[in-house]
Amino acid sequence: MAIILVVEDNPANLKLARFLLESAGHEVIEAADAAEGLAHAESEHVDLVLMDIQLPGMDGLEATRVLKNKETTRAVPVIALTALAMKGDRERILAAGCDGYIAKPFNHDDFIALVNYWVHGSFPPPDTRPANRPMNP
Ligand code: MN
Repeated sequence: MAIILVVEDNPANLKLARFLLESAGHEVIEAADAAEGLAHAESEHVDLVLMDIQLPGMDGLEATRVLKNKETTRAVPVIALTALAMKGDRERILAAGCDGYIAKPFNHDDFIALVNYWVHGSFPPPDTRPANRPMNP
């Protein structure tokens, strides 16, 4: 069991993420924007952050930079949830400090496999594994 903060402004995506994560035995903290997400990450114990990139106001890349520049939150892995699929996006996402990413709409099994990789060190699906990361976090 892990505590997973999901920062996502789309209610349907949030609902799906919650359902999948809870079905896999995890606890979910929801945030609808970056400010709310940063507040939760600061004030609560969080094992993993799932960060939508396109958010109203501060976007997910900027929010990730804030988390990775703070002593108290820097060690928490951040996985980007992205609808972007353009060349160069992967580099932008990793440059912002994200530890990995998964494109929406995602395969449900791949999604849970990626989450479990970051919280339990289990093997991730190859298409979501960051190439610059060791096999075990
Ligand atoms: Mn969004």
